[in-house]
Amino acid sequence: MSCNPALAARIDAAIGAGWRKDSAELEKLLAHIDDEALLTSLAGIKLANKRRFAEWLREHQGTVLDPDSVFDVQSKRLHEYKRQQLNLLWCARTLLDIRAGILPERPVTVIFGAKAAPAYTIAKDIIHAILCLSDVIAADPVARRHLRIAMVENYNVSAAEKLIPAWISLASKEASGTGNMKFMLNGAVTLGTLDGANVEIAELVGPENIYTFGLSSEAVINSYARGDYDPASHLEADPRLRAALDFLVGEEMRATGDVARLERLHAELAHKDWFMTFPDFADYCATKARMLADLGDEDAWARKALVNIAKAGYFSSDRTIADYNRDIWQADYAR
Ligand SMILES: *Cc1c(COP(=O)(O)O)cnc(C)c1O
Repeated sequence: MSCNPALAARIDAAIGAGWRKDSAELEKLLAHIDDEALLTSLAGIKLANKRRFAEWLREHQGTVLDPDSVFDVQSKRLHEYKRQQLNLLWCARTLLDIRAGILPERPVTVIFGAKAAPAYTIAKDIIHAILCLSDVIAADPVARRHLRIAMVENYNVSAAEKLIPAWISLASKEASGTGNMKFMLNGAVTLGTLDGANVEIAELVGPENIYTFGLSSEAVINSYARGDYDPASHLEADPRLRAALDFLVGEEMRATGDVARLERLHAELAHKDWFMTFPDFADYCATKARMLADLGDEDAWARKALVNIAKAGYFSSDRTIADYNRDIWQADYAR
């Protein structure tokens, strides 16, 4: 309500203000799934919020974004298990594709919002590689028309309040927590593995309103148990993955950043890949390409957004507390 007032007001107009106290009422939006005026205004609100975020980022850190590009946002703590590296490798692969004449379906701005813990070396190396790749792309006059990377400095709640309502036509979430719920409530469509809260989101919105990819958590757990994971076999089998990984330590990246950091990250992935980025890479790229293609049907996309908003009420803390009270505490506070 406070960070996306335009959307809140539009929801009031469609279904009344009851949802403000009882988030389950958001489901009333489902009755409006064919309301063209509502779908159009959702798209207008999104664009206005993207512009507002772009303006804020320009003032705040001098980064210029194109609000008409797709905002592909991944925001959460920087951690190897959140797999921002998967997104980083996608950016490297997409840059190489563009140079080979294979263009993404539409211009994309990949926005990272994340901080690393001070002693978490590899997480800081990942941030460093993201920043270097961002500079390399910005310096390429052809590639930068199709792909840009922005890193939100000092990502915190104030930044999230601007970023999340800019909803973000695709939100990648790994090892999902609560960020995906906030994005969903603002009408973003999630791209993620079937893990954590993504499982619940998928059950609520149905498979046509979320994009999932990758190994199941069972397959991952079994592979850890067997101890048979071999990153080299994936690099051998997928030359585009190999090329994207090696790009991180290539000429342009070395000229831009700190060679020791880039090499450490490269070695970590090539020899350990403890968080199993590689097995999911091809599926991640294919799923993202499918999303970018689906974005061409604005009406269908606005429906996906509407379903996500309508189903987000489930994640309200009021519902959680009510469930705890019914099932566990059984505190009869009404008396
Ligand atoms: C929600 C939020 C997080 C946590 O995100 P998860 O998806 O639960 O990891 C971190 N930082 C900020 C600023 C947030 O708003």
